[in-house]
Amino acid sequence: MTIKTKLITLKDKILEMIFPSKIKCILCGKDIPDFTKFFCDSCLEDDIFNNGNRCQKCDTKIKEGNIICDHCKEHKRHFDSCHCPLNYKNMVRQALLKFKSDNARYLAEPFAKLIHQRLIEDNVDYDIIVPVPSHEKTIKKRGYNPAKLLADELGKISSKPVADILCKNVLTKNQKILNYQERQENLQNSIILTDKKQIKNKNVLIVDDIITTSATIEVCASLFVGARNVYACAVARNQL
Ligand SMILES: [Zn+2]
Ligand SMILES: [Zn+2]
Repeated sequence: MTIKTKLITLKDKILEMIFPSKIKCILCGKDIPDFTKFFCDSCLEDDIFNNGNRCQKCDTKIKEGNIICDHCKEHKRHFDSCHCPLNYKNMVRQALLKFKSDNARYLAEPFAKLIHQRLIEDNVDYDIIVPVPSHEKTIKKRGYNPAKLLADELGKISSKPVADILCKNVLTKNQKILNYQERQENLQNSIILTDKKQIKNKNVLIVDDIITTSATIEVCASLFVGARNVYACAVARNQL
């Protein structure tokens, strides 16, 4: 390759980075013409956003006129509020499964951008970002902790510090087959806070990939005694 050809290739690569010709929908991978968007038109029609009237605590969709969902009325919450831009179903569900188990780490950046936008819209003021932990064995098997990837990307976007101070030291049973009570009992003794000083008088933001019953963030939030406020966020919310 001559120097001239190399320079042309380099120029094309730089132009492609600045003005990408093929932007792909982050859910289905289809090309989209507008690089300011994350989704193609057909995914946009698929009820992908966690919008409308939502529980002020756990962010699940609720009937118009209600403030808190029945679940939050029954259970004490250690977190102040929860913020999830997407609705965990269909294409969102598939993309998140890919992100969690199929090495689709590239999704961390657009997902973190979506969370960041939602946190701005909801006026969430946080000082420190803490990812929900994964057990060492799970990280080894998967190669990464998806919540930590999201937390790191969010840290870059928001310029807020990321503190990996929660540790999962017991491998818990498959959470999917358990109800809320069982999930919490299963988790309660499996997660520990390794550095209390970092959260003292701080507004803490817990980051997870998906919030289903909110049992995991509830257990994490219960450990942040001494924090000023505890918020939680995730890419998507499963509707209760
Ligand atoms: Zn799409
Ligand atoms: Zn709720």
